[in-house]
Amino acid sequence: MKLAGKKALITGGNSGIGLATARLFISEGAEVAITGRDQQTLNEAVAELGSKAHGYRADVTVVEDRKKLFADLAKDFGKLDIVFANAGITGRTPTGTTDEAVFEKVVHTNLNGAFFTVNSAAPLMNDNGSIIFNGSVHNYLGQPGVAAYAATKGGLVSMARSIAADLAPRKIRVNVVAPGATQTPIWKRGPRASATAEESAKLSDFFSSTVPLGRWGEPEDLAKAVLFLASDDSSYINAVELMVDGGLTGAPLRGLHSSRLTVENSYKGQTACLLGKACVFTLRRNLKSVARECQIMKSEWQIWQTQSWLICYPKCE
Ligand code: NDP
Repeated sequence: MKLAGKKALITGGNSGIGLATARLFISEGAEVAITGRDQQTLNEAVAELGSKAHGYRADVTVVEDRKKLFADLAKDFGKLDIVFANAGITGRTPTGTTDEAVFEKVVHTNLNGAFFTVNSAAPLMNDNGSIIFNGSVHNYLGQPGVAAYAATKGGLVSMARSIAADLAPRKIRVNVVAPGATQTPIWKRGPRASATAEESAKLSDFFSSTVPLGRWGEPEDLAKAVLFLASDDSSYINAVELMVDGGLTGAPLRGLHSSRLTVENSYKGQTACLLGKACVFTLRRNLKSVARECQIMKSEWQIWQTQSWLICYPKCE
């Protein structure tokens, strides 16, 4: 067992990557504290994980919640060996039309929330511990409409290096795991909640086609990488960002027609998400206009249209 006797905190441990990591940590001998905002999924997760799991309802953006969480952890756990600062949200923040409150919510959750989790956890941690932040491929992709999200995920990487320096005297390692598109409930939250099963399945197939390994990430793929960073298997790995994206950033598929994308990635307020070699529009209005624009290029572009998305991608040569 790789984590026998270890005590771990996982924020956002009631869903997706956090929950998969809690399962794996427990199977490797750890006792795990999981947090989340949603009491129901928290209860369900604890019921599934068993007696080695403890649930704490805490919003990472709320100071009082964090104070109570760490007071409870000091009482229930005494010390911590591992912190996985995983809780995070997405959010559309297109340049020119974004409300400050939306931008701030993403930053407050993903960056402030992660920092202050670790800030409060540090005094409770044993020497030789491990801290892992959950980053994202968006640190590198340069996709439109996600400035706040991308900034938070890039910010985590630089923040992790500084924190690694702060905690080096105590031999606490600090690293970032950076997932590519991973099948978790995050893809069903917000505007995506209204997608039909067929749309989601088609989008899933499409995303898979953009990844060199030909599939989405599963939460378990990420959990294994987090276990590696949490355990002694990575004993000399410190202040790094570990990409877990099937090669999306390291070996991107060719054919991203960047000159075309300047025309197509924005149409009357629509923003498109560039994935691998394709251009994905999340449609709210102007469906016909965007479709017409893509049609103009149909000799070079294939078009696939659903109720919620229009995807234009270059025909394979
Ligand atoms: P999920 O939506 O399944 O999980 C997100 C978790 O974060 C939930 O447990 C949620 O708890 C928690 N959370 C969100 N906001 C808060 C908050 N303010 N306070 C406390 N907990 C909060 O998504 P994932 O598992 O996919 O996401 C986990 C991390 O992975 C995120 O940081 C995300 O950015 C990152 N990531 C995910 C990718 C993907 O494709 N899935 C790709 C790249 C990065 P609750 O439900 O109770 O609110």
